Amino acid sequence: MGSLSGKNAVVTGSTSGIGLAYARAFAAAGANVVINGFGTPEDIEKERAKIEQEFKVKAIYSPADMTKPAEIAGMIALGETTFGSVDILVNNAGIQFVSPIEEFPIEKWDQIIAINLSSAFHAIRAAVPGMKKKGWGRIINTASAHSLVASPFKSAYVSAKHGIAGLTKTVALEVATHKITCNCISPGYVWTPLVEKQIPDTMKARNLTREQVINDVLLDAQPTKEFVTSEQVAALALFLCSDDAAQITGTNLSIDGGWTAA
Ligand code: NAD
Repeated sequence: MGSLSGKNAVVTGSTSGIGLAYARAFAAAGANVVINGFGTPEDIEKERAKIEQEFKVKAIYSPADMTKPAEIAGMIALGETTFGSVDILVNNAGIQFVSPIEEFPIEKWDQIIAINLSSAFHAIRAAVPGMKKKGWGRIINTASAHSLVASPFKSAYVSAKHGIAGLTKTVALEVATHKITCNCISPGYVWTPLVEKQIPDTMKARNLTREQVINDVLLDAQPTKEFVTSEQVAALALFLCSDDAAQITGTNLSIDGGWTAA
């Protein structure tokens, strides 16, 4: 019996990167999972089936688009009707866009605020009634080192991530007496498609080579000079779901190789 057997988790943006690592870590601990995010139907089905086979749990896929409030509520409802409850909610879906503010496309600002911040509000709003009814819940938001400090050219992302840190604290206070905790995890740079994709734009915005972006921009921020791994982030989330973490709520946990200590 895994530490999470009998529990059901929804992880947004879990077809890739950190989200997929969370879903796999929860499944390995015995939880059923709702995975979500974009990708080709074949790739998504491959990951979903692999989770079921490897960990002997149920895994279902919600195609909910995190820019659409009704679809987000539908994703929580799907988890509740399929598994009976949503005990663990991880708001993780996120995108990045790098540009000087005076050229920052307005639609990119709106999209980043919707996916990286508002989607967490909609999902939490939909999931809290069920958690209160059960008298147990874990809400984990993937924030970022950019919830604590800024970098140039990431105005929308930094604003959304500072927002998610505030939302986390507010929700934690509201649900504190219901045995529901709400925390955010703030990774430094984790090598995922999200980081890979911003390299060309950063090269352009700062007039640098690929190697210079990796070593002088990304890893420059991290005193350990190493990327964080998705599995390390997932292990922290798993701990937050444990009974030992019942009194950890409203916090912003850094896992950033020392970035925000500097
Ligand atoms: P990723 O690109 O590998 O994964 C992002 C996931 O979000 C994918 O599953 C994608 O399909 C999904 N997604 C994007 N738009 C969506 C939408 N509209 N609706 C539903 N799903 C959508 O990126 P990642 O690096 O694993 O990022 C995951 C989270 O971690 C993000 O919130 C990101 O801001 C945060 N984060 C990442 C890093 C890093 O260095 N990689 C650091 C700190 C925080």
